[in-house]
Amino acid sequence: MGAAAVISLAEVREKKQQVEFRQQLHERFDQWLDALEEQVKAPKPTLEQLTRTIWERRQELTGSLTEALVEQRYRAEQAQRSAPCPQCGRPVAARAVVSRTVDTLVGEVEVARPYFYCVPCGHGFAPLEATLGLAEGRKQFDLQRAAARLTAEVPYETARELFAELTGRQLGTERLHPLTNTVAAGLGVLDVAPTRHEIEEQIAAVAAGRRKPPILVLAIDGAQVPTRPETAQGSRPGRKKQRAKRARWQGQWREAKGFRCYLVDDDRSVHLLSWHQIQSDEELFAALRQIQAAGLIPEEQVRLCVVADGAPWIWNGVTQLFPTAQEILDYYHCSQHIHAVAELHYGTDAAAALEWVEATMARLFAGEVEGVLWGLPRLRPATDTAAAAIDKLLAYLRQHQHRLNYGAYRKAGYPLGSGGIEAAHKFICHARLKRSGAWWYVANSNHMLALRCAKYNGTFDRVFDRYKQTLLAKSQQKNVKK
Ligand SMILES: [Zn+2]
Repeated sequence: MGAAAVISLAEVREKKQQVEFRQQLHERFDQWLDALEEQVKAPKPTLEQLTRTIWERRQELTGSLTEALVEQRYRAEQAQRSAPCPQCGRPVAARAVVSRTVDTLVGEVEVARPYFYCVPCGHGFAPLEATLGLAEGRKQFDLQRAAARLTAEVPYETARELFAELTGRQLGTERLHPLTNTVAAGLGVLDVAPTRHEIEEQIAAVAAGRRKPPILVLAIDGAQVPTRPETAQGSRPGRKKQRAKRARWQGQWREAKGFRCYLVDDDRSVHLLSWHQIQSDEELFAALRQIQAAGLIPEEQVRLCVVADGAPWIWNGVTQLFPTAQEILDYYHCSQHIHAVAELHYGTDAAAALEWVEATMARLFAGEVEGVLWGLPRLRPATDTAAAAIDKLLAYLRQHQHRLNYGAYRKAGYPLGSGGIEAAHKFICHARLKRSGAWWYVANSNHMLALRCAKYNGTFDRVFDRYKQTLLAKSQQKNVKK
């Protein structure tokens, strides 16, 4: 009976605290309403007048509610009078409760937290900040996440405008640039890739109801992106007199090499994973090796095929890494080569050229590669240029002989072209990097590419969390070690 009475006393006290807390919240809400009514003077305001006023003042309310909740949940921490110094372990008495105002998506929030200062160590710390997971600066992680999402989509100046408009908070482009680059710093392919489990789920979804394992396409290609040298200053390549003092520099188009993995689901493709960077062949294949080692291309669950154009850097690496994959030379690149030869060989006789191209592609389609290889040296070129082009084509087709059986590939459901990777170039590289007047430092363009890959791979939030955890761990460390 005694125990029951004690519990009920505790319950009563808790109930009382809850009621008090609600009263406090209601008071804050009343104050907010008073201010609102003060502002809307018209007796019959339009809906827009009302919503605009509420929209403008929304964060005063939501920020103040957040403040109250923090106060309620952390009463004990705010009353903490002593804490061990993270450096020497001595107990340190609280100096004072110091308030710090932070900026969040729901408005400004004032956080009162006791501050400790260990005199022998000369070290100040506030344990409640770590518990709350506060960012060091004023702008908290929710705002930073929203800003990074925006800058990955639109140019910095537009991002700044939209950010202010949508969040009601300000972040200048001088903050947006470093934020974006810090979030993306050091990202590798495994950081932006989905997990093996996520990939297997996608495979299972496409495989459902099929007799054969689904086709997983690995497409590899390069895309040109506009870069500027590391030494370049200013916004445009050397032009105009007023810029003459700045070092002149030339913008340069460089190849972002990338790969994309996707599943073929009838006429739909299911994106799995993209990785594009301005990088060497070796770096691209190192990334492919990493995802292979992580089991992200589960070859035993799919029919793997690799589609690429004839770029020599691609196929050697592919054959080494995926010896059993179905290799396909991009049909359109192949037909372009054949077109080029036809134009040189038939000259002004366009009809004959077209007829020959169609016959040649039809033979390739029918699996008669040997026949094409037999016929080419038997053409009688009228010029040396045509002869050289025919020799080149012959070498090209011989080299890719086992990648040209287009009819059979189509019958089996494989894609014949690298349209899948060209689409990825468009939505990952071009959409954000190719803007008039934009020339990117290589490091920054790789940061942007990594963030855009993360977005399309469905891992943007994971990437941001990684950044956040790194910063939190750093400020923790600062607290422990000076
Ligand atoms: Zn100390």
